[in-house]
Amino acid sequence: MKEQLWQHKEIKIRGVSLAGVYSCYQLPDFNFSIDVGQGFDWILNDHLFFITHGHMDHAAGIPYIISQKNMRHHPKPQFYMPGSLIQPLRQIISLWSQIEQHAYEYDFFAFEDFPSIYLNNSFRIKPFKTVHRIDSYGLSLLKKTKSLLPEFQEKPGATLAELKKKGIQIEKEVEKILIAFSGDSQIEFLDQNPELYDSQILFMESTFLDNKKSLEDTRKWGHTHLFEILERLPRINSEKILLKHLSSRYSLSRAQQILDEFVDPKNRTRFEVFPGR
Ligand SMILES: [Zn+2]
Repeated sequence: MKEQLWQHKEIKIRGVSLAGVYSCYQLPDFNFSIDVGQGFDWILNDHLFFITHGHMDHAAGIPYIISQKNMRHHPKPQFYMPGSLIQPLRQIISLWSQIEQHAYEYDFFAFEDFPSIYLNNSFRIKPFKTVHRIDSYGLSLLKKTKSLLPEFQEKPGATLAELKKKGIQIEKEVEKILIAFSGDSQIEFLDQNPELYDSQILFMESTFLDNKKSLEDTRKWGHTHLFEILERLPRINSEKILLKHLSSRYSLSRAQQILDEFVDPKNRTRFEVFPGR
């Protein structure tokens, strides 16, 4: 397993993902990671971590990251997570503290208390609840930009500059979702947060892909099946639909084959599997 890098326009993602084994994704240009797997060395320079849920393949590395960052005298690491995870995790860290006879510095914050987490003036993270076997969240990364008001869109640049100089308001602020990241979830999170259908990149779990696994079985374990995504395809406006958290039963080439078989050619180019195998 080696972390891989993927890029679409201004968004870069580094990551590893294998259902039930490890999940960890980093946005290197923003210096944060989403889920930490077993705690990998390539995320140790981040100071901000978002934990979607407490399953070990997503969260087991938290104590290790805290210990490493304390040892390296980095700033206190900050973790956002479902509120129900905070108390048990504090107990785990406190036990490690006893074992190592060292007091750790870290901050845990509950997603429930932070409807928005501002990264800077232009970018913010917005957590949303997902549907899984335990409390689970997804995240979207939003970018604030300025867009010309409709009545000025056809005007030449010189006129616009003139108007601006006169103090006339020609722009409005708009926010767009650059990437929506599902965490582990049943498909309902999309219907419950319909704005995600317009995210530029929809990065979502698709644990199972083919007829060999029933939708019922997929849902029983709190996951999403490719066929459920395909049902919603007419509503999904994303430029890229990035599938993650695939079951280990699919090699990368098998996953591509299944996508070739079930996704119509017009939409096929929107689909990618990341990270590959
Ligand atoms: Zn899970």
